[in-house]
Amino acid sequence: MTTFTDAHLDIAWSSLKNGRDFVSGHPDAAAGLPELLAGGVTLACATVFCAEHDDESTPAELAERQLAYYDALPGRSDHRVIWPADVMDVGMCTPGEKICLIGLMEGCEPVAVPEEMEAYYRRGIRVAALTWNRNNRWAGGCEGKSGLTTEGVALVKEMDRLGMVHDVSHLSRTSIDDLLGTARGPIIASHVGADAVYSHARNLTDDHLRAIAQRGGVVGLVLYSKFLGGGRPSFGDAMKHLMHMLAICGADAVGIGSDMDGGFGKEDLPVGFHTAADLPRFAEALAGEGLSAHEIDKVCGGNFRRVLTSVM
Ligand SMILES: [Zn+2]
Repeated sequence: MTTFTDAHLDIAWSSLKNGRDFVSGHPDAAAGLPELLAGGVTLACATVFCAEHDDESTPAELAERQLAYYDALPGRSDHRVIWPADVMDVGMCTPGEKICLIGLMEGCEPVAVPEEMEAYYRRGIRVAALTWNRNNRWAGGCEGKSGLTTEGVALVKEMDRLGMVHDVSHLSRTSIDDLLGTARGPIIASHVGADAVYSHARNLTDDHLRAIAQRGGVVGLVLYSKFLGGGRPSFGDAMKHLMHMLAICGADAVGIGSDMDGGFGKEDLPVGFHTAADLPRFAEALAGEGLSAHEIDKVCGGNFRRVLTSVM
């Protein structure tokens, strides 16, 4: 069984928003615990996402609610979910039996001042993206053109001091340039497509793909149809993005960050791809493209495992 890492799952946000139980799974969910285990996922970034919500709660209150959801998962799942995972947990995690989770803050809206990031680090957050789509006090999001603010530079430095991973997924192109020039720690794109295959503000240019690979980072392929092509893209279209990323970045710098059950549903996955249990199709397709077994292991899980365990 190929072992997968999924660098982006909005588990708490989607479970709380849709009233679905992650542990037992739900007919409408693509990435509940049953599907993730069936797909061979042993490690995933579980997001704290507070940039968009319908109630009056503050981002910090929403973050607390989502972290509390993750804190309860090990007990509720008979310890098949490990949160927050450490290096030994990941090393001992058997595919199909358990899944290790580590926290990813998608948009730093819950953080008021850089010094507050340490409290989130202690709660299990090891990856952070300064923004979601919109600009915030830290940086420009992909809906705009502005870059990092002075406060954003200070937050990047605090993340480096703590030893965290930077995620560029929702940043504007200017913010990505600024981050590449400012950050010392690892840089990833947890869930993106390739702009050269299908142009979209959420997809990375070849220059940015190359820059992340050159400094030892990893770019994760998103499975949201809207970013992969016009109309309803196929699994083959998703593979085109993955193969382009591999051509630009090499086999040490590409992975998967599906975002399944994030801001989209099963109907927005590529045609022929239904749930996380279908992830092994990537291993088959990569073998069909001529990748070696070792390269397939790296792309499916090893590359993100390398970067994420380096900050656990
Ligand atoms: Zn996202």
